Amino acid sequence: MIDTDNLQEILSEVSQWMVNYYKNLPSYPVTPDVQPGDISKQLANTPPEQSESFKDIFSDFNSIIMPGMTHWQHPKFFAYFPVGGSLPSLIAEILMATLSPQCMLWTTSPAANELETSVMKWLQKMLGLPEEMVGMIQDTASISNLTAIMCARETLSNYAINKEGFQGQHYTVYCSTEAHSSIDQAEKILGIGTNNLRKIPVDDEFAMKPTELAAAIEKDIKNGLSPCCVVATFGTTSTVGVDPIKEIGEICDHYNIWLHIDAAYLGSALILPEVRQLINKYKNVNSFVFNAHKWLFTHFDCSVYFVRDKAALMKTLMLKPAYLKTHLDSKVTHYSDMSIQLGRRFRALKLWFVIRSFGVKQMQHIIRQHIQWAKELEQIIRKIDFIEICTPAKFNVLTFRLHPLGADDEDRLNQLNDYFLQKINETHKIFLSHTELHGRFVLRIVLGQTFMRAEDYLEGWSIIHGIAKEIIAENKLI
Ligand SMILES: *Cc1c(COP(=O)(O)O)cnc(C)c1O
Repeated sequence: MIDTDNLQEILSEVSQWMVNYYKNLPSYPVTPDVQPGDISKQLANTPPEQSESFKDIFSDFNSIIMPGMTHWQHPKFFAYFPVGGSLPSLIAEILMATLSPQCMLWTTSPAANELETSVMKWLQKMLGLPEEMVGMIQDTASISNLTAIMCARETLSNYAINKEGFQGQHYTVYCSTEAHSSIDQAEKILGIGTNNLRKIPVDDEFAMKPTELAAAIEKDIKNGLSPCCVVATFGTTSTVGVDPIKEIGEICDHYNIWLHIDAAYLGSALILPEVRQLINKYKNVNSFVFNAHKWLFTHFDCSVYFVRDKAALMKTLMLKPAYLKTHLDSKVTHYSDMSIQLGRRFRALKLWFVIRSFGVKQMQHIIRQHIQWAKELEQIIRKIDFIEICTPAKFNVLTFRLHPLGADDEDRLNQLNDYFLQKINETHKIFLSHTELHGRFVLRIVLGQTFMRAEDYLEGWSIIHGIAKEIIAENKLI
């Protein structure tokens, strides 16, 4: 058994393991070399009747679990959007786990409640968000997006749908074709229906076309439908495209529609004044989300949600069964009154540790460096004639594909690039993911890992370049 008598000894062993993990991380394979079922076949089919020793459990962790893990904090993790771990965030996670508090009401964890309010004000200043907005922490951007559209639905119906359900109203929601799939998911959950989600076309930079948005809204109004919410993406998942917030905001003002900004990834870069200019021109946003767990050095999970009308959020979500009432209800904000879930972790502690330990200047420096490295990588790639840049470095993301001279059959190019990506990831030394742009299969590289140094992306690129040369030499699919 693990108990307080042997805890010190066990923690020493685990903390040594943790230090070694972070030190040796660059030499680990980024992804595991396993097939489906490889892990489960090593796991016991029945739970143990008797206590097992820490030694046995930890030994299985090292021999069964570790070889099946993808290392998201690896400096050569270039896929999806990396998680933003850091050592200060790690320490806060350990402390949170030790306290294991339930931060639903002020009363259930006063310090957690007040720290959340305080770090939200810090972030508001760091990101330059409008002063009237109020922040809170959610688990993920998917839930923040759902919350925003739910609030929009309730504000428009004057809180009737919460009570009566839809009574024949037809609500419509708008986002670009490049918006995140969690917007579709929200339409399903909220009863709006995915057929009532209008996917507005994008321009060459993968940004929503405001004229098309206005046309879609006009058409829906003419047909007797009720436009409810526009979701503008500040940093799309595929290519970090930025919707024109100002133009979209003016359309929302004109038709009196809720404007939500999904800045899940790129929001962290708003700590740079040069990026903030992109969003500052328009102030009338109703709600805004960004994931500190993506690019702000914070362990998963920690999604930050800001809303202009706190009262509307509470009116949409608050439930007060007898067992949740307290004598302080008129004096304090209970964050659970503003969330879909009742239970809440003490995530604010991570942000407090991260922001204090790095300091804003260092955070700005790291993000600027990532952006600079992506530009430099683009220049390196441009010199290679059989690799084509599909979208130039936008912030710290770029897309590319293998495109041998004279090979212009798009289907074959798609097959070739699927094969190219498989070959890259089969090395397990780096990890990339792909996306589809105008029907083209393209590889995506994100330089956003906290622990990445310049040599990591340069070595990573030389692996990619080497594989590209081999494929060209094999002349297989052409
Ligand atoms: C990652 C991402 C999401 C989803 O984030 P979760 O926190 O995993 O739910 C939503 N929108 C955008 C633009 C994203 O990049």
